[in-house]
Amino acid sequence: MATDELRSLYQEIILDHNKNPRNFRQMPDADYVLEGYNPLCGDHYTIYLKMNGDVVADVSFEGAGCAISKASASVMSTVVKGKTKQHVHELFDRFHDLVTGKHTGNVSFEELGKLAAFAGVSEFPARVKCASLAWHTLRGALEQRKETVTTE
Ligand code: ZN
Repeated sequence: MATDELRSLYQEIILDHNKNPRNFRQMPDADYVLEGYNPLCGDHYTIYLKMNGDVVADVSFEGAGCAISKASASVMSTVVKGKTKQHVHELFDRFHDLVTGKHTGNVSFEELGKLAAFAGVSEFPARVKCASLAWHTLRGALEQRKETVTTE
């Protein structure tokens, strides 16, 4: 795909997930509930996590924030379901490399799926925390942390 086409596809994904966030709901029977806060931007979400042994059985979120933070939480919720804890940590590392510009080589849509839509965030350092907030919070939930996760 040409770069321009990719760029507009990525923009579309972010706009769509911001407007119609997936798994945007409370989960009364969640195993883990954790809040995440990005004071720089005001993004504030609660992540709900249900585990089946080592596998993410279900994940949902609630809260408010900028388009990048909400779209990122939404896309995250769609990609981690059914994954093992280990796999989620790997995805987090790759996503983090991507948004901080450490991902070397071409970012392939095939490899990263919709997570690749956030590649452009690396050009806007102030937005990196918006994009990674939900991931930091999910990781905290997986580690059974109780205190609010902040990006500062
Ligand atoms: Zn934000």
